[in-house]
Amino acid sequence: MSACRHLAFCPALITITPIMHANHWPAPLRRRRGFFILMGSKSVVSSKGSSVPAVCPRCQQSTTFTGKSVRQWFTLFFCPIFPISGAKSFSQCDHCGAQFGMSPEQLAHNVENSRQQMMQQAIAMYNSMRASPANSVTLNNLMALYGQLGEFDQAVSAAREFTQALNNSEQCMTTLGWVLHEQKRYPDAIQWFDAALQRNPALGEAAYYKAIALASQTPPDFSNAIASARSARSSNFPAAENLLRDLEAKARTA
Ligand SMILES: [Zn+2]
Repeated sequence: MSACRHLAFCPALITITPIMHANHWPAPLRRRRGFFILMGSKSVVSSKGSSVPAVCPRCQQSTTFTGKSVRQWFTLFFCPIFPISGAKSFSQCDHCGAQFGMSPEQLAHNVENSRQQMMQQAIAMYNSMRASPANSVTLNNLMALYGQLGEFDQAVSAAREFTQALNNSEQCMTTLGWVLHEQKRYPDAIQWFDAALQRNPALGEAAYYKAIALASQTPPDFSNAIASARSARSSNFPAAENLLRDLEAKARTA
């Protein structure tokens, strides 16, 4: 608990009135003097140990994780006096601030294990594509998996190799567009979103990411981005409403 904001209802707020001397009693007009003791508790975070490099499971950036610990302290007038709980260790991403309840070394180990499992999965999918090169579902999953691993070049080369699966699926085109967007190749990304929308104009996901790509390119094209976000909203794409508000705000200040 941090500082008490509602003093009137705070159980930690105690009024202590000095005992009145007998010959002063009763003294109804005398103003009684008192003082307050503000007690409470607060979490105190401290850094411990060194930083360990790892890919963050949340922001997917190659960054470092710092070991930290948190402990509840009893406070008097907001000053920590003594700890009232044991220390809990965690790791914090130095890029996005995400916290994980383990040491940075354990986190880096888990991330590496999970990455290796995903790479094995990608190899199995790639082999399955070679056996059935028109399978759009597998190609889509393979590109998405490479994207999650940050292996964007691998995702693009899979799309180039299995063109039959790509050209038969607006979902694959959209995923390829997303990969190209992640590589900051905005005109290429927009071209694939358009190809997907040509096959299926109601594909909200393609319109949504097209709007983001249009707003990310230099210079940003806010008016077409807003039109594309509106189209994603018409197709009931869940995040389109927020994106539309965000783009309209940016267009006003641009
Ligand atoms: Zn992060």
